[in-house]
Amino acid sequence: MAEETVFAKIVSGEIPVTLLAETERVIAFPDAFPQAPVHILVIPKTSAYQNVTELAASDPGLLAEMVEVANRVASEHADGDFRLVFNNGENAGQTVFHVHAHVLAGGLKEQTLGG
Ligand code: AMP
Repeated sequence: MAEETVFAKIVSGEIPVTLLAETERVIAFPDAFPQAPVHILVIPKTSAYQNVTELAASDPGLLAEMVEVANRVASEHADGDFRLVFNNGENAGQTVFHVHAHVLAGGLKEQTLGG
């Protein structure tokens, strides 16, 4: 079995976080190393999917639920507009292999993609 990720430990409560949103299948919490004025992670509680391609292929409804939660936290913690980033694979910068969405918000208008 694959080694437990830091996000599995967050879901189980072993690593405490400030929960910003929770549904039956999804949680959201602040990124520990924010890259934007608002930087929130949205993850499914299940550890079944390593990345967004696996998730989309197997459970698109859960992916849609993640987007819904991203929209909600962006409204609650910024002006409602947000950038949604999924790093998919090591060479794209993914470091935690439990699918997660980065919700980036708060004054990103002038910041170009990758800039
Ligand atoms: P990625 O590089 O796309 O795999 O993103 C992993 C993200 O998880 C990074 O932005 C880290 O800052 C974040 N991260 C790692 N450990 C924690 C933690 N214990 N609490 C909150 N965020 C974390």
